[in-house]
Amino acid sequence: MPSSSQPARVRFAPSPTGRTHLGSGRTALYNYLLARQTGGQFILRIEDTDQKRYVPGAEEELMNGLRWLGLEWDEGPDIGGPFGPYRQTERRNLYAKYARQLIESGHAYYCFCDSPKIDEGDAPGERHKHRDVCPDRDQLLADADARISSGDDHVIRFKMPIEGSITVTDAIRGDITVENSTLDDYILVKSNGLPVYHLAVVIDDHLMEISHVIRTSEWLPTFPLHGHIYNAFGWDQPIWVHPSIFLKPDGKGKMSKRDTEALQKEGKSIFLGDFEGMGYLPQAVVNWMALIGWSYDDKTEFFTLDDLIEKFSLEKLNPSPAAINFSKLDHFNGLHIREMDSADLANLIRPFFEKDGYQVDDQEKLEQIAEVLQIRLAILDEAPEKAGFFFKEAIHPEPESLIGKKMTSGESLAMAGCIRELIASLPDFSEETANQPLRDQAVELGLKAGHIFGFLRNAITAQKVSPPIFETMTIVGREKVLERIDKAIAILENLGNEN
Ligand code: GLU
Repeated sequence: MPSSSQPARVRFAPSPTGRTHLGSGRTALYNYLLARQTGGQFILRIEDTDQKRYVPGAEEELMNGLRWLGLEWDEGPDIGGPFGPYRQTERRNLYAKYARQLIESGHAYYCFCDSPKIDEGDAPGERHKHRDVCPDRDQLLADADARISSGDDHVIRFKMPIEGSITVTDAIRGDITVENSTLDDYILVKSNGLPVYHLAVVIDDHLMEISHVIRTSEWLPTFPLHGHIYNAFGWDQPIWVHPSIFLKPDGKGKMSKRDTEALQKEGKSIFLGDFEGMGYLPQAVVNWMALIGWSYDDKTEFFTLDDLIEKFSLEKLNPSPAAINFSKLDHFNGLHIREMDSADLANLIRPFFEKDGYQVDDQEKLEQIAEVLQIRLAILDEAPEKAGFFFKEAIHPEPESLIGKKMTSGESLAMAGCIRELIASLPDFSEETANQPLRDQAVELGLKAGHIFGFLRNAITAQKVSPPIFETMTIVGREKVLERIDKAIAILENLGNEN
C-alpha cells in the first residue's frame, strides 16, 4: 500500500558541515522513495546558514554521494527549480521578511541582551530560562526599531507562550505533547542576520510546499518549537517523520567520533564517499540502508531501488534505534553482485586489481574472471586476493604445497610429470576433455583425484583456495598451465636434490 496517494513533495536538507554519513544517505533514500512512489518531487536543499560550521567541498561530496546511490533530485541548487533558490544563504533576504512578520504579530521580539551565548543558538534544556531574565521581551516595537536604527546589536527570539502546552505529531511516533513552561524564547535570527535552522526550515518547507518532512530524529527535541513556529505563522504543518537513530555495531549507544575512527582503522567507514572504494555496490548500500529501520515483511531482504520504490511505506518504519551491521552489508553486496551483468562486474573489479598493482590489459580475460568470481565475491576488493594470480607473470607456490597428502616429494614429482604429459597431449584443452583423463590418471597411479587437483591448484594459483580448477585452467590457458606445472616440477626436483 503506498504511503500516500497524493504526489509527495519531499526534501533532503543537509547542512554542508562535514562528510556525508550513512544516516544522511538513509534520510535521503526514504525521501526519494516516497517521492518516486507517489509521482511527486524530491528536492535537495542546502542548509548552510551556520557559516561557522561550513566545510568547503562538503556540498560536492554530498551530491556525488547521492548520485552514486542513484538518488537523483528534481529540484536543487545545481539544477534550479520553481521554488529556488535552494541554498539557504541565497534566501537570506526572504527570511528577514518572515521574521519581521512574527515580530509584528507578537510571536517574536528583538533581543539586545549581551548574553555571551547570544550567538550560539540555544536549545531546550538550558539551565536558565532566557524569557525570565530578558528585559527586551515586552519592549515596544517602536523602541526596539529605534535601537536597531542606532546600530544596536540584536537577535530575534521566539516569544514562547508561558502557559499551556503544544502537541506535535510524528507519523510513526504519534503525538508528542510538551508543556510550554519547559520551553524557552529560542533565537530565530542571529546578530549576523542569518536565521537559525528552526526558522529557516519552517519557512522553506512552507514556501517549497513540502508535504512530508522525513528527517533525522536528532530534531525531535526541537520539534515542539517547530510546531510553535508553524502555529505562529498560521501555516499547515507537513507530515513529520523522524526515523530511527543509528547505533554503533554492537548496539551500545550512538556512533561517536571515536567509533567512526575505530571503524576506519578496520578498513570500514560510515561515510558515503568511502563505500565505493571499500568495494561496495550502490545498490547493496541502498538495500542495506533501507532495512536499517524499515522492513517490508519478516522475510524479504533483497530489494533493488525499483523494488523499494514500489514497496516502501512510512507505516513500516520502525522508530526504535537500529545498530549498523557491516556483515549484513557484505551479505547484501554479495547478493547484488550475483544479480549483475558479469561484464559490468568486470569493469567494477578492474580498479581493485589495478590498485594492487596488476596490469589488466586483457578485457576478455577480465570478463572471464568476473564470471568465475561472480558467485564468490562479497566485496569487490576481495577480487585481487582471490584472483590476482591470473594476472601474474610468474607465481611462487610454497614447495610444501606441491607435495600431496601422505606422499613423498618424489612421488609428487612423478605425479606432476604424468599430469604434465597428459595435459600436453590432449587434442584440445577444456573441462570436458581433461576432467575424466585426469581422474583416470589418479586411479592408475593409485591416488585420489584430490591429489591431482590439489597439485594443479597449488601449481597454477599458488593459493590454497581458488575458483574451480577447470574454470581457472581454462582462463589461464594451456600454455601457461604447462609453464606453471614445469615450474612446480622444477621446485619438486630441487626439493629432491636437497634431500
Ligand atoms: N540541515 C538539517 C540537518 O542537516 C536538516 C534537518 C531537516 O531535514 O530538516 O540536520
